Amino acid sequence: MKIDINTKILGLIGYPLGHSISPLLHNYSLEKLDLNYVYLAFALEPDSIQKGLEGLTALNFRGINVTIPHKNRVIPYLDELDPLAQKIGAVNTIVNDNNKLQGYNTDAAGFKRMLEDDGNFIISGKKAAVIGAGGASRAVGVVLCHSGISELYVINRTYDKARKLVRTWQQFYENIKIEAVPMEIAEYQPLIKKMDLIVDTTPVGMSPETDVEPVIAAHTLHAGQLVVDLVYNPPETTLMKAARSQGAQTLNGLDMLLYQGIEAFKLWTGQEPDVDDWRELASANIQENAINETHN
Ligand code: NAP
Repeated sequence: MKIDINTKILGLIGYPLGHSISPLLHNYSLEKLDLNYVYLAFALEPDSIQKGLEGLTALNFRGINVTIPHKNRVIPYLDELDPLAQKIGAVNTIVNDNNKLQGYNTDAAGFKRMLEDDGNFIISGKKAAVIGAGGASRAVGVVLCHSGISELYVINRTYDKARKLVRTWQQFYENIKIEAVPMEIAEYQPLIKKMDLIVDTTPVGMSPETDVEPVIAAHTLHAGQLVVDLVYNPPETTLMKAARSQGAQTLNGLDMLLYQGIEAFKLWTGQEPDVDDWRELASANIQENAINETHN
């Protein structure tokens, strides 16, 4: 990789930083496409966000990915916020456009592209259940509403968290039926049967604790449904196995991770990395680093 006085900075901020495949993927494509940028990783302490962003801006960085715990904390320091990122309440990509910091959420775009391109799933008019009410659930729920889902149910272990999330979305999307559902089989079983799409946004089944009961009972799933687990290590979780045995279509979250990165790369450079290159690099690298993966 050529580094000279014109090289622009890209990177990732988070704290603490677990293993991340982003430097590998981005630097690979920057070099392949002959783009004069370098992608670095910065462990930025939560108390230093403002200083960190000011420092990067002074150094004329072009863009950064933002990961836990900074995804919502960076928002007050941005000049512009993409409307979808605003509804999600989280930013995972910042673009520095002539010292104006713009915030985006490419997790949402990555999830949508995965459903459409890999799952051949048309969101508009469909019914979906999202399991979990954390950070990933916010991006998934908002992009589903934004793309015309007709009914959306949030099933979460802590019911109050689901209710809170649902109340926020109901304000934005008045014409969509959005409800919180307790994580008890008697409550969710009749509902799951009617769903076109089920998305597990919990870490249940993630390496190294792979041999666990799926987060929802397998017999509630059936053919004709798309079941997505945002976990991608292992490539097939117990939920995906259960869904496949019931005849449902399944996807893991690897392509969401890749597509969110591709979307960020496009925002920064205007060019698009080859997703097959990234899939190959990521698959090899994730297996070697089974735990502590950062989703950027
Ligand atoms: P988070 O903010 O901590 O939220 C986790 C959610 O999972 C919470 O709603 C939590 O319920 C629920 N949960 C945790 N353990 C559970 C259990 N044993 N049984 C039932 N529910 C449980 O985490 P996050 O950032 O949303 O990430 C969630 C998962 O998505 C992680 O596995 C992460 O690896 C994955 N992810 C993937 C991508 C991708 O690109 N593929 C991107 C982001 C995240 P409570 O509210 O009751 O605590």
